[in-house]
Amino acid sequence: MQFENTREFAKKLDQKDPLKSYREQFLFPKVDGKRVIYFTGNSLGLQPKNAKKYVDEVMKDWAELGVEGHFYADKSWWDYHERLAKPLSTIIGAETAEITVMNTLTVNLHLLMVSFYRPQGERYKIICEEKAFPSDQYMLQSQVRFHGYDPNDAIVEIKKREGEHNFRIEDILRTIREVGDECALILIGGVNYYTGQVFDMKTITKAGHGIGAIVGWDLAHAVGNIKLELHNWNVDFAAWCSYKYMNSGPGNASGCFIHKRYHNQKDIPRFEGWWGTDKASRFLMKPEFDPMPNADAWQLSNPPILSMAPYLASLELFDAVGMDALLQKRNSIVAYLEFVLKEIGKEVTSNFEIITPSNPNERGTQLSVFLHGEGRKLFEYLMKNGVIIDWREPNVIRLAPAPFYCSYEDMYRFGQLLKQGILDNH
Ligand SMILES: *Cc1c(COP(=O)(O)O)cnc(C)c1O
Repeated sequence: MQFENTREFAKKLDQKDPLKSYREQFLFPKVDGKRVIYFTGNSLGLQPKNAKKYVDEVMKDWAELGVEGHFYADKSWWDYHERLAKPLSTIIGAETAEITVMNTLTVNLHLLMVSFYRPQGERYKIICEEKAFPSDQYMLQSQVRFHGYDPNDAIVEIKKREGEHNFRIEDILRTIREVGDECALILIGGVNYYTGQVFDMKTITKAGHGIGAIVGWDLAHAVGNIKLELHNWNVDFAAWCSYKYMNSGPGNASGCFIHKRYHNQKDIPRFEGWWGTDKASRFLMKPEFDPMPNADAWQLSNPPILSMAPYLASLELFDAVGMDALLQKRNSIVAYLEFVLKEIGKEVTSNFEIITPSNPNERGTQLSVFLHGEGRKLFEYLMKNGVIIDWREPNVIRLAPAPFYCSYEDMYRFGQLLKQGILDNH
């Protein structure tokens, strides 16, 4: 399609957008009484209107039933988390049994390391990407120290080439080959949080298994953003947070994927709690741990229902739309934003560079833009004018037009504000 950088054209795209009605299912912050252009769905997704209703239901059940809500609430609490596994399984590309929802992301990564980082003899190293999300770096460093290793030796970072913004698959595969028999685990963010680069999870997982390593993925920036086929890709485990593209609310529950081949292994090392025991006999309060036959065996505590309620509301929207429709709109709105940015680049003297891969198969919703020669003043101008955006040092803005609630007209308006901001800056 031949794009045009005009309001009329953007509006026409909005009229034809099969997902346009979903914009009304979300609550937008406002600046000067007008809905903001929201580019930070990769950081905290907007609130689905139904989220409050679902939370209110739990509050009402608690008020009217007290503890009996565990069994007699319309959506009983004792198995509330199971309602999330089904819609998540289609988003993750997994069997329902391979999904569990619990805790928060960094906590879950630590818990999964108990099962999946088991260094032995010469095989103790972990491969990750350089400049991984800080929480993942701290998690890995503390894990290797916990096992008695030196992070400088035990953690091998895949490097980018000098002057390049993205990782090359041949460099990733070379690192995997080089570490070889010493590699216990590969753990990478499925989508890089800084550049938005999508990793070839299928190829990397296969290469990791080829050297006898376990392969896990942090899907914080991937879930609800890109096509995932974790089961078929043979991924060993994965975890994600739900408050980014999944719109579940601040600090909300995390999800885990554990491949079926690890279920029903009674001797797998794991930190256990009562919600991981077989639900049929859980309330007999027996001293022996009898694991659930699925990923729920990794559950520890009874689930935080108030945190799961908005997650459920959000997942129902994903289920109604389906990932395929969402990804179609994603491709088209990101392509339009890219076009608008390039047009504006021609109109202003300033030079900005999109550092996210231009190949649609190597990116999701996010475009990261290097604003050469612009400072924080531009960022502040945009924020003042109703664009919610984030800034990463040295001067990169990350733009993530979530397909659920961003419009093509938002992209056009953003382009105009960016142009004005740059002109005012000089
Ligand atoms: C957002 C994000 C986190 C956040 O972890 P929490 O435990 O939810 O605070 C961790 N890792 C990655 C890669 C992220 O993008």
